[in-house]
Amino acid sequence: MMVTQRNLGRIETGLLERRAFLASHAASDSDRAAIGRIDAALTRIRRGTYGCCAQCGGPIEELRLRKLPETPLCLTCTLGRS
Ligand SMILES: [Zn+2]
Repeated sequence: MMVTQRNLGRIETGLLERRAFLASHAASDSDRAAIGRIDAALTRIRRGTYGCCAQCGGPIEELRLRKLPETPLCLTCTLGRS
């Protein structure tokens, strides 16, 4: 696991704040989809699997997690899927 416990706490706080914001404004399908991705990321944090790619199991790039904290996939798998 490359994400430190301290970073994980910060990421979780950020996700919860964004979730609350989206939940109060959510009107579009994409907002609801974003909430779903955030919930999945929060579940991974609680299970201790956050930061591991859901497809290949490898570590998700730290920079990528900083930009897209709710992403379930590493860059390679994301590009491979598109
Ligand atoms: Zn992957």
